[in-house]
Amino acid sequence: MEQIILTGDRPTGRLHVGHYVGSLKRRVELQNSGKYDKIFIMIADAQALTDNAEHPEKVRQNIIEVALDYLACGLDPVKSTMFIQSQIPELCELSFYYMNLVTVARLQRNPTVKSEIQMRNFEASIPVGFFTYPISQASDITAFKATAVPVGEDQAPMLEQTKEIVRKFNAVYGDTLVEPEMLLPDNKACLRLPGIDGKAKMSKSLGNCIYLGEDADEVKKKVMSMFTDPNHLRVEDPGQVEDNPVFIYLDAFSRPEHFERHFPDYQNIQEMKAHYTRGGLGDMKVKKFLNNVLQDELEPIRNRRRELEKDIPAIYDILKEGSMRAREAAARTLDDVRRAMKINYFEDMDLISEQAKKYARSCG
Ligand code: ATP
Ligand code: MG
Repeated sequence: MEQIILTGDRPTGRLHVGHYVGSLKRRVELQNSGKYDKIFIMIADAQALTDNAEHPEKVRQNIIEVALDYLACGLDPVKSTMFIQSQIPELCELSFYYMNLVTVARLQRNPTVKSEIQMRNFEASIPVGFFTYPISQASDITAFKATAVPVGEDQAPMLEQTKEIVRKFNAVYGDTLVEPEMLLPDNKACLRLPGIDGKAKMSKSLGNCIYLGEDADEVKKKVMSMFTDPNHLRVEDPGQVEDNPVFIYLDAFSRPEHFERHFPDYQNIQEMKAHYTRGGLGDMKVKKFLNNVLQDELEPIRNRRRELEKDIPAIYDILKEGSMRAREAAARTLDDVRRAMKINYFEDMDLISEQAKKYARSCG
């Protein structure tokens, strides 16, 4: 079986370091591993509109931001097909059929949708499109017959919903769709990077992000303002490293060579954590180190982004070309789906002659 990846992001803002460790970095590694036959990376503009219907300009502007971040991080248009969701009408058609295979009660139980409804204060007025976005996500994944979906932990319920739809579809209409596998980051700290404010998730919609491509000064300012252990008041106080965003970021980003270069007092993160827990290591020092680590990681991305920004029409060309390729792939799956559902009336010569015979008999 072909090994195929589908993954993507909503163009609701620039991408941040949570995206980077949760999904983007892994995608680049998978892209370069040579283990995949096809890789599709989707800019989910239609999904972004499900909770931004009144802000189409926001979605429109951010498509290019996301594409620049992709390329700056090392996604390569030769190896990975980057495309815009709304340009693939086959995805809507597929959703229309999947909607019959999912109950309202099942959607209401989806924990990600539940928490996102709360986060957006949608309780009394959930747009239908937003409520059904897990179905549209199932279409995105299955239209490309994806076998692997590298995403952050918050997407687990979506993958579960997709698998259920695949099983149901195949049971009703015969083996047609492929069940995808979720690829989570190996590093626990990367599963769901918290915000700089200490909130459970760094998220574009919460404004608690360090963005990729952000200026060095801005990154430093944000790191220095980060939430840490609120009970660690004096340097000599024992501090807590669990649930402390500064240490979660260090878990996600720091490597032994960073210690060698920026903080040779310690050989690794364990030694540093032990000192903080004992007392005697101040937040300032930890934050300075974190800033150095982040700058090392972000500087090459920032520089590549600046270069790419010089030719914006070329980025649109990449997306146009990718959208054409993606549409061809989705159209092939839709042919299979229509055949399986027996709604390919005009190709089905048996159906036409059967019906003709029926009426020939009744006339005769
Ligand atoms: P929005 O607030 O508009 O939903 P977002 O910041 O949640 O934006 P998405 O576009 O919804 O970003 O998510 C894109 C991908 O990045 C998904 O695979 C998601 O799991 C992953 N991701 C998003 N935020 C984080 C995070 N803080 N830590 C790890 N992975 C993340
Ligand atoms: Mg999200």
